[in-house]
Amino acid sequence: MHELAIATALVEQLEGILKQEGSPRLLSFTLELGEWSGIEKDALEFALPLVLENSSFPGAKVIINKIPVEIFCQHCRRSAPLDDQYVLKCPFCGSEEVLLAKGKDFIIKALEIEDREEATCV
Ligand SMILES: [Zn+2]
Repeated sequence: MHELAIATALVEQLEGILKQEGSPRLLSFTLELGEWSGIEKDALEFALPLVLENSSFPGAKVIINKIPVEIFCQHCRRSAPLDDQYVLKCPFCGSEEVLLAKGKDFIIKALEIEDREEATCV
């Protein structure tokens, strides 16, 4: 399962961060999951607790925020959310010279460790 491998890599990364911060416990962490990241939110929500169970922070709370896809038009230089049509085309000028500005990444946005300070790691 694709998401299980991702969850494993993610928890390893979190353990690395905790070691750097010198904190033994992770209370919660927030993930940003782009709609076009290729990762299924449901599958990840299923896989993460399985991996967390065997980590050094089994009770950590997971918050997953889905990030919608946003495009940036190189022609008229405007940003727009990508609607359901899944066509990479500017809704303002019709140009196809658009970039994916948001929604393709999967990142750890924030984590809350035992001393209750929020650490942003992006
Ligand atoms: Zn445009």
